[in-house]
Amino acid sequence: MQALWANMTYEAAWDPKMRFDVLTLFPDLVRQAMTAGVVGRALDKGRIALNCWNPRDYTEDNYRTVDDRPYGGGPGMVFMIEPLRRALLAARAQAGAAPVVLLSPQGRRFDQNRAREWAQLPGLVFVCGRYEGIDQRFVDTYVDEEISIGDFVVSGGEVPALAIMDALTRLLPGVLHTDASAIEDSFMDGVLDCPHYTRPELADEGAVPAVLLSGNHAAIARWRRQKSLGATWLRRPDLLGKVILNSADRRLLREFIDDHEANFGVELSAKSVVTPRDVP
Ligand code: SAM
Repeated sequence: MQALWANMTYEAAWDPKMRFDVLTLFPDLVRQAMTAGVVGRALDKGRIALNCWNPRDYTEDNYRTVDDRPYGGGPGMVFMIEPLRRALLAARAQAGAAPVVLLSPQGRRFDQNRAREWAQLPGLVFVCGRYEGIDQRFVDTYVDEEISIGDFVVSGGEVPALAIMDALTRLLPGVLHTDASAIEDSFMDGVLDCPHYTRPELADEGAVPAVLLSGNHAAIARWRRQKSLGATWLRRPDLLGKVILNSADRRLLREFIDDHEANFGVELSAKSVVTPRDVP
């Protein structure tokens, strides 16, 4: 990946902190989840900042009501517009003009390309829905983009927002131990990651592939690339339709497919939408 910041030092680029503002009825859940692992360390190091805004704090009745029954009838409740609007205005007073993203199963599917785009931004405001969803007038007036994490429905936008904030955080320079780790992740160059092994060399479940112990860096890189291409061909052939493979990649993949067919037969290989004929 060649990111905009790839050739810049933090100081030369801009304030390195990425700011997340999250409108949520469950701020403790979001804050707590953000303390763990890579994201927690990024928070501690000041690479990201997290601010939660609870719409319940922006209600005006004694019951701190944030939901009401849907006009037109039907099951469930709807997230009311006023507490959301007030919470958003409070967030914006600090976050400025950061894009407002609504987590929604009806939104555009989040992916690694979008993660790379958003990781260049100084900040984002996430709106976590609950109930049957939020009043459409809020969406129409304040939301810049609706984003989904997949074709399934969870109970609230918090888990989707956490997944997205994690994906963005690990792309920020200086967050992972080596920035190259993120570059080698699945999807970063359009294909899946290769398999990984660590000690012991020999376990009850098998031995580590000999090439990884050889110390031959060129052979290791070639093996990893072939495994990446092969895994993509087997599991996500749709991705291969979107990347441009150079002649070395095509040779590696051809070899992988031939081996695979020799071991498992052509029938299984034919499941892939990229037929061996597509790989010269
Ligand atoms: N009735 C809505 C629908 O069918 O489109 C689903 C509402 S869901 C129970 C409550 C909230 O969870 C949504 O407003 C949204 O914020 C969040 N949510 C659920 N599934 C999601 C997904 N796949 N991606 C992103 N957010 C999701």
